[in-house]
Amino acid sequence: MGRASPKPAAPASCIFCEIGQHRAPAYVVYEDTETMAFLDIFPFTRGHLLVIPKRHAPRLTDLPFPDQATLLRSVDVLCRRAERLTSDYNVALNAGANAGQIVFHVHFHVIPRYGEPNPFLAASRAPLKVRDAEELVTTLSAP
Ligand code: AMP
Ligand code: ZN
Repeated sequence: MGRASPKPAAPASCIFCEIGQHRAPAYVVYEDTETMAFLDIFPFTRGHLLVIPKRHAPRLTDLPFPDQATLLRSVDVLCRRAERLTSDYNVALNAGANAGQIVFHVHFHVIPRYGEPNPFLAASRAPLKVRDAEELVTTLSAP
């Protein structure tokens, strides 16, 4: 009998695995050996970021604790960088379809807040614009 693998198998196609391996495009603002952060393609607010582990796991509790800690360290880095845009932000994690998860590769959202009443509405979202994305990458990718 084979030993159980501690690593959840990635689905045949996972867009965040693809981004993490540089096989799909993204506006990357942070990367280390284990994690990556990039602009959300359909942002709730300007500078909306996603922070992922490169290793595939559907949700946070599928990652071993040291990997969770490493991911949180990167969330901290990106929260500090979000403060280059505005002082306030939300950090969110959706776990499961009923919680609104649509990409089943764990990710933290870092969502800068500029005083809008409720940005968490589909109607307030517009696709990321290339020129703004390039400006944000310059602002957010500097160490
Ligand atoms: P969730 O509802 O927590 O699963 O959020 C998934 C997020 O991923 C959504 O905010 C999407 O806009 C975003 N997203 C999906 N595909 C991409 C992509 N290829 N590049 C950047 N963001 C993406
Ligand atoms: Zn994945």
